[in-house]
Amino acid sequence: MSIEENIRKVTPYTPGEQPQGKVIKLNTNESPYPPSPKVTETLRSLDWDRLRLYPDPKMSDLIESLAAHYGVKTSEVFAGVGSDDVLSMCFLTFFAGDRPVFFPDITYSFYDVWADVYRIPYETKALDDDFRIRPEDYYAENGGVVIANPNAPTGIGADLLMIEDIIQHNPDSVVIVDEAYIDFGAESALPLINKYDNLIVVRTMSKSRAMAGMRLGYCFGNEKLIRYLNDVKYSVNSYTLNYPSIAAGKAAIEDKDYFDDIVSRIRATRENTKKRLMKLTFSCFPSDTNFLFVKPPEGIAAAEVFAALKEKGIYVRYFNKERISDYLRITIGSDDEMDALIDALKEIVDAAANTV
Ligand code: PMP
Repeated sequence: MSIEENIRKVTPYTPGEQPQGKVIKLNTNESPYPPSPKVTETLRSLDWDRLRLYPDPKMSDLIESLAAHYGVKTSEVFAGVGSDDVLSMCFLTFFAGDRPVFFPDITYSFYDVWADVYRIPYETKALDDDFRIRPEDYYAENGGVVIANPNAPTGIGADLLMIEDIIQHNPDSVVIVDEAYIDFGAESALPLINKYDNLIVVRTMSKSRAMAGMRLGYCFGNEKLIRYLNDVKYSVNSYTLNYPSIAAGKAAIEDKDYFDDIVSRIRATRENTKKRLMKLTFSCFPSDTNFLFVKPPEGIAAAEVFAALKEKGIYVRYFNKERISDYLRITIGSDDEMDALIDALKEIVDAAANTV
């Protein structure tokens, strides 16, 4: 016997770098814009004396504004410390059986980490050569299904009919649709939460609401599934969201005009950046997100471009992983940041051409 045998050992998720100096940061899909001014006003006017007290474990203010905004009942909403917390609670709650959970081979790289830490058996299903989901892969008996729509890091959105087909084929297991990027494109499965009793739709305020630093995520499902999630949450940590986060989240959700404005700006910058990258002969997948998944021109390795950009103080994301090691994931920044990116890439491409 040794102490080692009693320790839960895991290989942790590797988050994108968070450099502290002044760099152009296009590596973790954050928003280039600040949160709504209503969020700042709300935080300024908080009653700081209330920090003596525990926050509302039911997060009622936030849950009520989410329910009103999305047109669902409060009993159909759950919230947590970013969608990572919500997803982690979903894995713990809904994947407690012996059958393997299915998710794509190329997707958000936290799914296999949660499966490992909670000792959940899983199988990955290969995306096709265009990085699209093959719905038939999810017809076999399983202990649950997780689909990111749009997917990460590819940025590709799946057709809602295909998502519905996967939900329909899995009446005996919970299907989690991770819609972290849905506000930038693709069609949400949210209207289906009462049509099927096995669907959970997960969202975040980190991307389209520019609140990554506040850590706010939420999900929707029928009342029964949300009750099971809350039972697990109250068995792990009752006070997940703190008082400032609850207030800030409510303010962010209620400022729809600001949200519409920054989302449409990011979408316009995305399409413009894509055109400019294609002119530089990068190939780009269609993106329904706030990032582009791109392949550098023939003869230039993605890893080299990643390193050369970093040298110039521009951080993008490179995954040294089978099937995607030829690509870079570039978050959509402000128009100025995209100008700097394109200038830097021009230099890198020219330098590579001169060395051939
Ligand atoms: N899902 C996907 C697909 C993501 O890319 C991310 C961002 N890393 C998350 C969930 C988690 O985001 P957050 O915890 O900031 O809500």
